[in-house]
Amino acid sequence: MNILTNADLHCHSDVSDGTLTPEALAARAKANGVELWALTDHDEVGGQQRAMAAAAAHGLPYLTGTEISVSFADVTVHIVGLGFDPDDPHLKAGLAATRGGREARAREMAEQLARVGIKNAFEGALKYVGNPDLISRTHFARFLVETGVCNSTHEVFRRFLTEGKPGYVPHRWARLRDAVRWITEAGGQAVIAHPARYAFSPTQEYALFSEFKQHGGRGVEVVTGSHSAAEYVKYTEMAQEFDLYASRGSDFHSPDESHTDLGTLPPLPGQLKPIWELLSARVV
Ligand code: AMP
Ligand code: MN
Ligand code: MN
Ligand code: MN
Repeated sequence: MNILTNADLHCHSDVSDGTLTPEALAARAKANGVELWALTDHDEVGGQQRAMAAAAAHGLPYLTGTEISVSFADVTVHIVGLGFDPDDPHLKAGLAATRGGREARAREMAEQLARVGIKNAFEGALKYVGNPDLISRTHFARFLVETGVCNSTHEVFRRFLTEGKPGYVPHRWARLRDAVRWITEAGGQAVIAHPARYAFSPTQEYALFSEFKQHGGRGVEVVTGSHSAAEYVKYTEMAQEFDLYASRGSDFHSPDESHTDLGTLPPLPGQLKPIWELLSARVV
C-alpha cells in the first residue's frame, strides 16, 4: 500500500443512513477497484462484522470504521475512526450514548414539519430507517422527496432540516476529546471528516485542528466526495501545517443520491502521508 492505493475510507450502509447493505457496498467497492475499504456508519459499529466478512469474501483489504457526531463550538463536526477494535466496550458505550436522543430529536423535527403543513414525517422517515437507533435527517430527506415536497435530498437540505429552516433541531453530540479518545483507546486512528463542510471562521477552524491534535487525533480527510478541487489544495496545506496524515473517502450513501461513487475519487496529493501508513497493522 502507498499514496496511490485506491483507498475508500468513508461510506454508509443501511445500518446508518445509506441505502445499501454492508454486503452490497463490499461488492460495489470491489467492482469499482477499491483496494482498501472501510464502512463508516454514523455513531454505530453494528455493521462491522458483516462488512469485514463481505470484504474477506471478495479478497478486499478492510479497516474497521465509524463516523462520530461531535459538537464543537456549537457546530456539528464529524470524526471518522479507523482501524479500531469493534468490540471495545468503551467505544461501544460512547457510540450508544451518542446515538441516544436521536428518536426524541426526530419527533421534534416532525412536530416542526407538521407546523409548516408536512404531516406524519416521523412515521414517514421511519420507513427508510434500517436501524431504529439511528433515525437521521437523511431519512426525513428521503420522505420529503417521496412525498414530492422536494425533488432531491440536496434540495431538502437547502429548504429544510438545517439551521434557520423548518425541521432543524439543535442537538448536543459527543465531545471532541471523548470521540478521539474512544477511537484511539480502541487501537484506531481519528480523522477529521470533510473539514470544508463546517461553518467555521478561520479562528474556529484553527481551534478545531489544534484541539483535535492535542487530544491525539492524527488524520484529516483531504480528498472526499464533499470537497472541491480548491478544497483539496486548502486541506493539503492544512494537513502539512498541522502535521496530520491524510485520508480519502467518497462518503457514498446511495446510488440514487450520491454524486461520488465508491473508489472514484482522485488520488491523494503526492506530498501527503496517507493515514493507511499508520494503520497497516490493523488491516484485515
Ligand atoms: P444527522 O446525523 O441526523 O444530523 O444527519 C446528517 C446527515 O445528513 C449527513 O451524514 C448527510 O448524510 C446528510 N446531509 C447533511 N447535510 C446534507 C446536505 N447538504 N446534502 C445532502 N445530505 C446532507
Ligand atoms: Mn450521512
Ligand atoms: Mn459526515
Ligand atoms: Mn459520512
